[in-house]
Amino acid sequence: MLNGEKKLARPLRWAMVGGGRLSQVGYKHRSGALHDNTAFQLVAGAFDIDADRGRDFGVHLGLDADRCYADYRELFSRERQHEEGIEVVTIATPNGTHYEITKAALEAGLHVICEKPLFFTSQQAREVKALAAQKNRIVGVTYGYSGHPMLLQMRQMIASGEIGEVRMVDMRYTHGFSASDSADKFEAQKWRVDPAVAGPSFVLGDLSTHTFYISQLVLPELKLQSLLCDRQSFIASRAPLEDNAMVMMRYHGGAVGRMWTSSVDAGSMNAQQIRVIGSKASLQWCDWLPNELRYEVQNQPSQLLHHGMAYLDQAALAEDRLGALHTEGLTDAWANIYLRCALAIDAKNRGDETALANLIYPDIDAGLEGVRWVENCVRSADSGAIWVNYE
Ligand code: NAD
Repeated sequence: MLNGEKKLARPLRWAMVGGGRLSQVGYKHRSGALHDNTAFQLVAGAFDIDADRGRDFGVHLGLDADRCYADYRELFSRERQHEEGIEVVTIATPNGTHYEITKAALEAGLHVICEKPLFFTSQQAREVKALAAQKNRIVGVTYGYSGHPMLLQMRQMIASGEIGEVRMVDMRYTHGFSASDSADKFEAQKWRVDPAVAGPSFVLGDLSTHTFYISQLVLPELKLQSLLCDRQSFIASRAPLEDNAMVMMRYHGGAVGRMWTSSVDAGSMNAQQIRVIGSKASLQWCDWLPNELRYEVQNQPSQLLHHGMAYLDQAALAEDRLGALHTEGLTDAWANIYLRCALAIDAKNRGDETALANLIYPDIDAGLEGVRWVENCVRSADSGAIWVNYE
């Protein structure tokens, strides 16, 4: 159980690029990183594309005005000269900027925590992976939902054979907030449907990379062999970017899967779900009831496993904060991801590669795999929705 005691000798000096006053995701980073652990201390930032607004925002977060910078270049160069300069930076800007800012941060000797989808191409991700290795730095990726402890329970139950041999993986991440073109007037949506800023996809990158990572978290051994993706732009002005996609998958070893991702699932607030079906039983988790895991054994009454209960695996209990009596939510999940990233950074700083190898956190490979997933889906869809080998 986590109770706020420190896990690192001292908090890491942390800055943000993006995540400013009007951003959608900035607060999730701050509330996650600073939630209930002593791992991070926010000391600087370049929070906004509008330098004055970014500075004003930083001051209202309680930072020193002279550590609220106009842009990431000034942030990295000035902090390098500061005797207590930043050690790690979060990048929470629109997709098209992640690559150049991550590279600049690594070059400046910083650890990086970056938003998804990490980059536009897997080639970029491989290049940055090599750079991070050369600089001896961590790149973490904020697949925030993956921090819900019941997913570690799911991972452990699949690994210990409780559902038998895995046959099917059924995934969905949909909402209805882009069902009409009026959604595209908002700043946070405008760039999402512009390939120059969003990259080669809209919902595949924006939504399904989360669920795809969750599938890799709970099924680390399962590898994709081929897939078929069909993508649509129901709002025509969004073409070539899709607002809906359906993907069929074949895994090595014979298992199959499917993913439905959509922002035009009219009436849906937010529906992310993964169901893993084995030869004996199934496990199902959804992000609107994240404290529960449905366990259904053929010919037996179904069970709802609940967070914080003593019957759970130690890995799931270790990240519980509130106990079974109370509901945990997205902020707790983000706090777990941030804490895991902090532990990875700390292990890297201490040269403890064994500890690092034993940590489960969304690392550069997880970011790379998300980019690769999008690339393969787009290649299939744009070739006429055909089966393609997973490259
Ligand atoms: P947004 O448009 O709402 O906010 C972007 C923020 O970045 C704004 O504050 C903007 O001023 C700032 N910004 C833009 N360019 C900048 C630059 N060059 N330097 C400094 N600041 C800059 O976007 P958003 O919805 O917050 O998304 C940002 C990123 O987070 C995207 O990559 C998106 O995919 C990701 N995201 C992830 C999650 C998640 O659950 N992990 C949720 C939402 C968004």
